[in-house]
Amino acid sequence: MPANIIDGRAAAQRVRAEVARDVERLVSETARRPGLATILVGDDPASEIYVRNKRRVSQEVGIADHHRELSAHATQAEVAGVIDECNEDDAVSGILLQLPVPEGLDGAGLTSRIAPAKDVDGLTPVSAGRLLQNASGLRPCTPLGILDLLDSHGVSLEGADVAVVGRSNLVGRPVAMLLQHRNATVTMCHSRTRDLPGVCARADVLIAAVGVPRLIGPEYVKPGATVIDVGINRTEDGLVGDVDFEPVSERAGLITPVPGGVGPMTPAMLLRNTVQAARVQIAG
Ligand code: NAD
Repeated sequence: MPANIIDGRAAAQRVRAEVARDVERLVSETARRPGLATILVGDDPASEIYVRNKRRVSQEVGIADHHRELSAHATQAEVAGVIDECNEDDAVSGILLQLPVPEGLDGAGLTSRIAPAKDVDGLTPVSAGRLLQNASGLRPCTPLGILDLLDSHGVSLEGADVAVVGRSNLVGRPVAMLLQHRNATVTMCHSRTRDLPGVCARADVLIAAVGVPRLIGPEYVKPGATVIDVGINRTEDGLVGDVDFEPVSERAGLITPVPGGVGPMTPAMLLRNTVQAARVQIAG
C-alpha cells in the first residue's frame, strides 16, 4: 500500500485487539461481561448485513450478544417496549437501534428512548448535547473512527484548518464538534456553501461526508493535506467514496481509500463504546 494511504482495515484490527484485551480485563476484574443489544426492525437487506457484521465483530472480542429482532409490521409501542426492556436489563451495556426503521415508525423518537448510559451509537439528543458541551458521554462511532485514524497517523489538529463537508447528525456535525474540542479551526460546508472548492483547498484536513460519488476532485485539495473520505456510494463502477481517489491521492499527504478506510472503523468504535459504557455502568 503506498505510504500516503491510510489503512483503515489494519487500524480497525488494532482497535478490535485492544477492545478484546479490555473485555477480558473487565471480566476478570468485575466478573461482568459487556453486552450489546442490536435491535433490528423489518427486513431491509442492507440493515440486516450491517447488524450481522456488528454482532459478529462484537462476539469476536468477547462482548455478549443480546440481539433483538422485530417484524416490519411492529408498532412504535412494540419497538419502544423492546428498548425499555434493554434499558432495564443489567446484562445489556449498549443498545444499538439499526436505522432506518421501517416507514411509519418514528426513528428519532425511538432513538431518544435509549438510556444515554447505553447509547453506544452516540445519537440520542442527550449524547449530542454532551458532545456539544464537551462533557463526558458516548460519542458517535464514525466520528470517533475518524479521530482515531488522524491520531494514529500523527496528524496534528491543534490550530489546524479543517473543512468538514456534510452536516449530518451522524457524521458531519459530531466530527466537527470533536475536532473543535481538539482545538482545530473547523469550517462546516454543505450543499449551499459558496465556493466549496475554494474553502476546501485552504484546509489542512479535509473530511468529506456527503454521499455524492467523487465530488471532491484535486482542485479541492491543498497539496499535502490529509483527506478523509467517509462516503460510501454504490455505483456502476462498484463502491466509491465522495473523493475522486486517483487524482486526489497524488496531491494529498494522507488519504483514506474506499473501501478500506473509514468504513471498518465504525464497527470497531462501536465495540470500544460498548466496553466504555459497561465500565461506567459497573462503576455505577
Ligand atoms: P446525509 O445524507 O445525512 O448528509 C449529507 C450532507 O452532505 C448534508 O449535510 C448535505 O448538506 C451535504 N451535501 C449534499 N450534497 C452536497 C454537495 N453537492 N456539496 C456539499 N455538501 C453537500 O449523509 P451522512 O449520513 O452523513 O452520510 C454521508 C456519506 O457517508 C454517505 O455516503 C454515507 O453512506 C456515508 N457514511 C459512511 C459511514 C462509514 O462508516 N464509513 C458512516 C455513515 C455514513
